[in-house]
Parts: sequence; structure tokens; C-alpha cells
Amino acid sequence: MLRKSVTSVLAGAVLTGAIALGGCAQPGTQANTQSGAQSGAQPAENATETQNREALYQVSLLQSLTEGDFEGSVTVGDLKKHGDTGIGTFDGLDGELVMLDGKVWQAAGDGSVNLMEDTATIPFGNVTFLDSDETLDVSGAASFEALLKQLDGRVAELGINNFYAVRIDGTFDKMNVRSEHKQEKPYPTIVDALAADQTFFNLEKVEGSMVGVYCPPYASSMNSAGWHFHFVTADRKQGGHVLDCQVGKATATIDKTKEFDLALPGSQKFESTDFTVDRTADVKKAETNE
Ligand SMILES: [Zn+2]
Repeated sequence: MLRKSVTSVLAGAVLTGAIALGGCAQPGTQANTQSGAQSGAQPAENATETQNREALYQVSLLQSLTEGDFEGSVTVGDLKKHGDTGIGTFDGLDGELVMLDGKVWQAAGDGSVNLMEDTATIPFGNVTFLDSDETLDVSGAASFEALLKQLDGRVAELGINNFYAVRIDGTFDKMNVRSEHKQEKPYPTIVDALAADQTFFNLEKVEGSMVGVYCPPYASSMNSAGWHFHFVTADRKQGGHVLDCQVGKATATIDKTKEFDLALPGSQKFESTDFTVDRTADVKKAETNE
């Protein structure tokens, strides 16, 4: 961590309309303009905004995505103001988003990986500026489950009630990922979209990076509690949403984020969705394909 935030605002998560918010910098949070790790220049109109490196920024709710709210509400350009590392999807559920080193990649349903323009929009995602709080050797993890168990062990020590971003760089003996083809309006639910248009890619002996987010148990009504990982190869030619893996030699960089910044889309679809409905089963199906 580069610094502790002056204020911890987790208890009062920032709820804001996505279109108007821009930076959402917290009063009292220090500016980050001196950081050499900065990626992506700020547009002139936001030059005076501060960046909050200790917040996990989220666009909309995963539960909204399960309802077929695939309309992009935040641009890739705006996303870059909130982080350099993260995961998500694109307008129309058009593939899996992997953000690494400030670049936004689309692992598309046809198996291609594409560098996305700042004008592309996203309906859901989580990003933060990855500041290493610690690293963990995850070499030899025999399965995704084993890897997550190891990460859970560290999170149990660091505090399970926080949000985390993790990046794992290395070699992978096996990497089973999926993506999906873009949906057309009227959008189906995510479960129906995946049933019809999900594609699987079983990679072997690849080098690359996994990017993941951990959400604490209490976040289960606006995201998936626990881990969610995407992957892209080192040559940025293959990738997707991780379903299983076998780790060769790899190191995890762990960033504990003490703040949470939620950008609600404010769309008609979002406003009319009943979020009292428990969508846990749909979220699990979308995340694990089980
Ligand atoms: Zn995913």
C-alpha cells in the first residue's frame, strides 16, 4: 500500500449516479498526482480531481447483469480514472474484460483478444489501482479450488471483511476459461445468454496474468461474495473468465482496498429492477457454470 487513506469510508459506501460522477474522490483523500505508477492521463476537465488508489470501484451490480441489464453505462476511458487493474464485461455482454497495467482487453466470444478503445462502454466491472500490500507464491496450486483456498488463507489473516484485488503472474499448466458472444436487444438473462452463446477455451502450458477481485460476504447482494478471476495470456492473444486452472510457477500480488466506490447506472432498466429478489443461484451459475 502506498499510503493509508485519511478517511475510511467503507461504512458509508459512496452511491452515485454513474454519469455524473467522474472521480468520486473522497474529501480528505490525498491526491495521487505524484505517483510514478500512474497510467492513463487525466482529461483536462478532470485535472483537478484526485484519484483514490485505495478504493475498489464498481460499475453497477452483478445482480443487474443477471437480469439482462447489459447496457454499458461507463466508458473505458472513465474506468481508467478509477484503476489500472480489474475485470468486467462490455456493452451487450460482449466478452470478458481484463484490465492490466491500465490497458483494457476484451477476451471475446470468438476467442480473440482485443485492446479496447476508451469509447467502449461497460455495464459491469470492478477496478482499482493495484498497489501491492504483499505477494504470495502460489506455484503448484493443483486446481482453481486449491488456488482460491490458498488466497482465502491469506484473506482470513488480512481480514475477510475487506475488498481485495489480486493479480497473479506466471505460468499455468492448465487454464480453462470461457467467454460469450455479444447479445442483441431485447437482452436475455445472463443464464440464458450463457447457455446459448458461451464458448470455452482450454489452454495448456501458457504464460499470463490472472486478475481477480475478492468481495466480502456482506457484498453478496451487489456482487459475488468471494473470488472472481479473469485471465489473459502474456502475448494478449487468449483469455477469458476463469473456470479452472492448474498453476505452474506464479506469484500473486495482493491489494487490500479499504474503500468501495459504486457507480449506479441510473437507467430505466436499473430503476425498474426489483433487487429484493435473491439472485444468488443465477450469480453462481454465471460465475461457475455450475
Ligand atoms: Zn467473469
